[in-house]
Amino acid sequence: MPEPKPMLIAGADVPCEAGIAPLLSINPATGQTNYEVAAAGPETVDFAVRNAASACADRGWREMLPMQRARILLGIADGIERDGAMLARLQMQENGKVWSECRRQVQSAAATFRYYAGVCEVTGSEVTPARGNYLSMTLHEPYGVVAAITPWNSPMTMEAQKMAPALAAGNAVILKPSEVTPSTGLAVARIALQAGLPEGILNVLPGTGQGAGAALVAHPLVRMVSFTGGTESGRRIGEIAARKLMPVALELGGKSPHILFEDADVDAAVAAVAEGIFEGSGQSCVAGSRLFVHASIHHVVLKKLLERARSLRVDLPDAPGAEMGPLATFAQRDKVQAMVDEARAAGASILAGGTRPDACALANGAYYLPTIIAGIDNRARIAQQEIFGPVLCVLTFGNEEDLIAQANGTAFGLAAGIWTADYQRAWRVARALDAGTVWINTYKQLSVASPFGGFKDSGIGREKGIAGMRLYQQPKSIYFGMA
Ligand code: NAD
Repeated sequence: MPEPKPMLIAGADVPCEAGIAPLLSINPATGQTNYEVAAAGPETVDFAVRNAASACADRGWREMLPMQRARILLGIADGIERDGAMLARLQMQENGKVWSECRRQVQSAAATFRYYAGVCEVTGSEVTPARGNYLSMTLHEPYGVVAAITPWNSPMTMEAQKMAPALAAGNAVILKPSEVTPSTGLAVARIALQAGLPEGILNVLPGTGQGAGAALVAHPLVRMVSFTGGTESGRRIGEIAARKLMPVALELGGKSPHILFEDADVDAAVAAVAEGIFEGSGQSCVAGSRLFVHASIHHVVLKKLLERARSLRVDLPDAPGAEMGPLATFAQRDKVQAMVDEARAAGASILAGGTRPDACALANGAYYLPTIIAGIDNRARIAQQEIFGPVLCVLTFGNEEDLIAQANGTAFGLAAGIWTADYQRAWRVARALDAGTVWINTYKQLSVASPFGGFKDSGIGREKGIAGMRLYQQPKSIYFGMA
């Protein structure tokens, strides 16, 4: 096995910390080892944070004209596009997403850097209209060293959503990518150096959550943490942040309702429901994992949905026409399987999937078939817990009141979809749902300019848009006496 891929700290390659096991990257499509990646422990975290704090202390990055910072961010976007095929391949071999989705995530990462290049020019300061004998001005200053901790499902998108605004605001960033997908962040940080980002302003420390992640959050020189991942990890990070009185942004899990009223365009809705849960093998925080169908169209919707689930092409992620690859890890596949088996044992009907594919070519990968579960109540565990796999729970409703009670009846509140021809109803229901994002007659469209985040246990704070920039800035108001 070649030497583990190095970490990146202060613009230099850093080998694995002594006494810390390197991360073993496994291709979930084949079960084969990709490579090893150097991992950080508490000592490397301390070294990286101190270096980043020194890089902040010289104030070169934060005092740079926003236009100059923007030029570097635009250079990063260009570099991401230039190296798009390499980045997409890294992601595909680490988390098994199909090639077309990996390519889309390259585009979304580049677009995010471009968007925040523009935003940084207009969000640095504002002057309050004169009042009496003083004038005040508010500067939106960076925190200093910011930690970004990301999951494995869409590493490039999630990493860009944190790195781009945090850098645009003038912070130094330490990215702790998921132990499953350490490579895209490392590659983007190298692209950033080529684009002129000063050394030490973007550092990447692969490592485990309990090791590198926890040490990073607790480090006294880390002033803000932006986390995307599971709700329980988010809760633990929030507890540490509370003790440090440190701001946190938490983008957590979901159990999003996808709602079909009796006047829905059934064909369009069924296509969106299938994509909303099966794309990325359901490993999406906004996966529409609970389908609520009006009782009057239940049979027709289910028939079409079963046809779609059974015809969906599960294949090697780079196979032409592949619609769904494996799950990102064998552990995740086993977790999904255990949850479906538990639901089956509790009396649920597994109408499609509920097992691994039997194709020989997929035998060594972490695949699981598109699965549709019915005959359950909204209170069932399978309908309440995030599965993070290609598993759709089908539920019915009779009227709007019943629907809203059921749709809101989970601990989560990330997203929701509504299909109806009646826009007044769509508006009413969208207003009543506990969700940070609601789609009407579409699903999973996401704009970098629209704030994104969760209600309830789905998180705190909003990424993307101007709100996503404000996460990484602290306002300072300065008053000038004028008389
Ligand atoms: P996870 O919580 O296990 O890990 C996420 C990241 O946090 C990883 O880098 C991990 O190493 C790190 N981590 C774990 N425990 C930590 C701790 N105590 N201190 C510091 N760092 C820690 O999540 P995952 O399994 O990688 O990702 C799946 C979860 O992410 C799902 O729940 C999904 O819904 C959520 N997610 C949310 C969004 C969103 O925007 N809301 C987007 C994508 C994924």
